[in-house]
Amino acid sequence: IGLNKNKKVCLFNPLYGQPFYRKAMLERDLYQAIKKNELELYYQPIIDTKSCNIAGFEVLLRWKHKNIGMISPEEFIPIAEETGFIIEIGRWSMEEALKQLCIWRNKGYKNLKISLNWSIRQFFQQDLLKMINSLLNKYNIPPECLELEITESHLMYNIDYFLNMIKELKELSVNVSIDDFGTGYSSLSYLTKLKLDKIKIDRSFIQNLDRDEENNVVVKTVISLAKNLQLSIIAEGVEKQEHISFLHRHQCYYMQGYYFSKPVCRKEAEHLLEHWNKQ
Ligand code: C2E
Ligand code: CA
Ligand code: CA
Ligand code: CA
Repeated sequence: IGLNKNKKVCLFNPLYGQPFYRKAMLERDLYQAIKKNELELYYQPIIDTKSCNIAGFEVLLRWKHKNIGMISPEEFIPIAEETGFIIEIGRWSMEEALKQLCIWRNKGYKNLKISLNWSIRQFFQQDLLKMINSLLNKYNIPPECLELEITESHLMYNIDYFLNMIKELKELSVNVSIDDFGTGYSSLSYLTKLKLDKIKIDRSFIQNLDRDEENNVVVKTVISLAKNLQLSIIAEGVEKQEHISFLHRHQCYYMQGYYFSKPVCRKEAEHLLEHWNKQ
């Protein structure tokens, strides 16, 4: 870090363009991001292709940094996890999301679900169940409308802890789904024990549909696995009509992806609702 001629730390030091400095700067600024109103929730619709309705939204964070511009969650979520700030961010996101869901419910969209990505560190948060309970009460949201997504690799890494954690969330009637399914190494015996609600097939599998036969077999197998375990199943990363046809042929009806909509801001999400879920 250089000093400028007034002996002040130079904010636009070109070194900031380098990965180490960029990370240090993001680490520093993340603590202020909520207060400065730089974080925003985006919503990606999950379509029930049988009824042609939006069944719910996945919440995806965006950070609009005052100087740098848009920063991807792929970059700042790992920093938030390392620094522990993810707890604060998670609390804030859950409150914002439930507040928004409450508004939509009051407009008549009663069956909508909202799902939040929840990192491993957040599942170890001391007051997690209490926090969820009090936010659900505050915004008058039925617990079945809230879903937490956990990635498959994290789940299997700490399986004993999650067996218990998921049981407690189920007692509250909150749903839990496995994200990026197929990219970790699930043990089938655990899958049956875990009492999960939903599997989300990772988008890499959907995007390789009809490119190689082995990949198609994996997708078919995951769909029938879910069916046998009585879990619902969502396909992520649906971009083409051919993806939809394949999934329908194998009886997978919940889908999410750019074919329907990319993640959008609150206002645009509401336009999507007006369009898809006419009342
Ligand atoms: P994810 O949970 O797997 O989210 C799906 C990602 O795929 C999103 O990227 C979404 O924009 C993108 N996507 C959706 N449909 C398509 C499609 O049809 N094609 C392609 N190519 N991509 C599609 P995004 O928003 O950049 O988020 C990246 C990751 O960051 C998420 O992956 C999630 O793991 C993490 N993340 C985002 N928000 C949060 C959050 O609030 N908390 C936590 N813990 N993690 C978050
Ligand atoms: Ca997710
Ligand atoms: Ca995913
Ligand atoms: Ca992911």
